[in-house]
Amino acid sequence: MADRIVIAGASHAGVAAADALRRQGFAGDLVLLSAETHAPYQRPLMSKAADYLQLASERKNLKADVFYSDNTVDLRLGAEVADIARGNKEVRLADGETLAYDHLVLAIGGQPRNLPPALVSGVPPLYLRSMDDAHLLHRQLGMARSVAVVGGGLIGLEVAALARGMGRAVAVFEAAPNLLGRVVPPDLSRFLLDKHRAAGIEISMSAHLTRIAGDETGYTVEVEGRDANRFDMVLAAIGTLPRTAMARAAGLDCGNGIAVTGSGRTSDPAVWAIGDCADWGALAGIGQRFEGVQPATEQARLVARAILGQGAGDLPIPRYWSHQGPVRLQTAGQLGPEMILVGQAAEDGGLCVLGQVDGVARGCFAVDAPNAYRAALKVLEAVRLAEVAARLHRNM
Ligand SMILES: Cc1cc2nc3c(=O)[nH]c(=O)nc-3n(C[C@H](O)[C@H](O)[C@H](O)COP(=O)(O)OP(=O)(O)OC[C@H]3O[C@@H](n4cnc5c(N)ncnc54)[C@H](O)[C@@H]3O)c2cc1C
Repeated sequence: MADRIVIAGASHAGVAAADALRRQGFAGDLVLLSAETHAPYQRPLMSKAADYLQLASERKNLKADVFYSDNTVDLRLGAEVADIARGNKEVRLADGETLAYDHLVLAIGGQPRNLPPALVSGVPPLYLRSMDDAHLLHRQLGMARSVAVVGGGLIGLEVAALARGMGRAVAVFEAAPNLLGRVVPPDLSRFLLDKHRAAGIEISMSAHLTRIAGDETGYTVEVEGRDANRFDMVLAAIGTLPRTAMARAAGLDCGNGIAVTGSGRTSDPAVWAIGDCADWGALAGIGQRFEGVQPATEQARLVARAILGQGAGDLPIPRYWSHQGPVRLQTAGQLGPEMILVGQAAEDGGLCVLGQVDGVARGCFAVDAPNAYRAALKVLEAVRLAEVAARLHRNM
């Protein structure tokens, strides 16, 4: 039985792991280390909270303070792990302290992909990953009249809709020809584009940025083949990269994230990885990296069971939601432009598509269609249960 489990990263994955370990009976030392100085909080709120006070209050927190004391979780804020000495089973913190572990869970998340430095001069644009970033974003949103968002992905569209809802003039520059083109078929992409344009957001597709120059009065944004424009503020939201540097330096296998088995174990049996930093299943053949609260939480539960020797399990169908002003997106399962539309339901100005891969329903994507989404989810769940049953039958 392990005496001490150290979790690096105290966000959705790390906190869920601490919770699951205690619920499943772990009675040893449980140390939860956070590089941030804020109590663990709901990260998705940062791009959605129209009421800034919500971000400044305790309502944003993942757990009330008593959760940590009641469950004897030793939460340490401002405690960044600098490196892992796997030979000694120790982590070294940035302040020099070392901590021994029996099991180490890496829940260190992701970081924003940066714009190429050659394109940016002067005051840099904003990025949004941490609560400190969110405070800066909301301060600037409070004062700006015009906002440019580089990147028409989920986070970019959320911030664009938030700014538009505050009455700002908003322009989104997306390099791809279709909005969310990597995850949805073109019909749905157009449907979403029309919704945002109808709300007054200017969205430029196939917009290749050539320069962003910032100074204390604002930003000049230049896009290939178009006139340069001035904005009071710019947010760059062009994707998330998994944090892998520390794991690589410690000699752990990494690909598109820290490579783990289907139960979250890395190439070292005493080290585990969950959430946005993990390339889930990569050590078992096919890796998949998720960027969502539900997969991070479910992976945490599986890892807790595996560490405590309570057997393996399957991840449920990954789900994601996004609130873009009044527009509500919900997704489940495997998404991609190659999905063939097998079902489509329209309700009250919404749209839901169910996609198949190799003849089997694998994913769904809904825009303002919660009832159709629930129905599609049932189809996906039925497929999954049938596959689990078939696998169990084969193994009998
Ligand atoms: C603006 C925004 C909006 C989002 N909206 C949604 C949404 O609507 N729905 C949804 O499902 N998902 C959403 N997401 C994604 C979701 O927030 C992430 O999938 C989720 O936070 C992943 O949790 P995590 O614990 O794996 O990583 P993270 O939340 O990234 O947390 C990792 C933590 O580890 C800390 N850390 C890093 N390195 C170290 C170290 N060396 N030592 C100690 N600590 C360290 C980091 O500071 C951070 O606190 C959103 C993300 C963002 C940024």
